[in-house]
Amino acid sequence: MSWKAQAICVDCWHRAHPAHRAPAREDGPQDRCVMCGNETRAGLYERLDTEAVPFPAPDYDDPFDRPLGYDYEVLPDGRVPVWIMGGIGDQARAVTPWRKHDNPATLSIAEIARDAGIAPGEVVGREFFAAGDEHKLTDFRLKHDPRK
Ligand SMILES: [Zn+2]
Repeated sequence: MSWKAQAICVDCWHRAHPAHRAPAREDGPQDRCVMCGNETRAGLYERLDTEAVPFPAPDYDDPFDRPLGYDYEVLPDGRVPVWIMGGIGDQARAVTPWRKHDNPATLSIAEIARDAGIAPGEVVGREFFAAGDEHKLTDFRLKHDPRK
């Protein structure tokens, strides 16, 4: 048995969370839904047992198959790379140098959106730089800001 965060499509997410609207994107990383096997770019991830899903995510033996953030490290200038791999309500699931895909950190989507000057709906699926450490991250900036 191996629990890890795995990609899930919008339809399967809604089946699992009928009371919520999926915080989905259309331009997230290309993934395969572990429940139905369809391709998804929704940027939605669920922590699931790889042996309990029909299409389990691969183990990342091949470096080119590794998900975004797999190799995150704090930059020499102190900036911390953060990828928001998913979210529910205001809770973002974040990959950081200290918290990987199988155990993502929980951050506030509203806080990230406010710092970065973007809409809360734009946060999931994007990469940011933040200040701080494994205990507290602040001052989120878009890694690729199209406005600059
Ligand atoms: Zn699906």
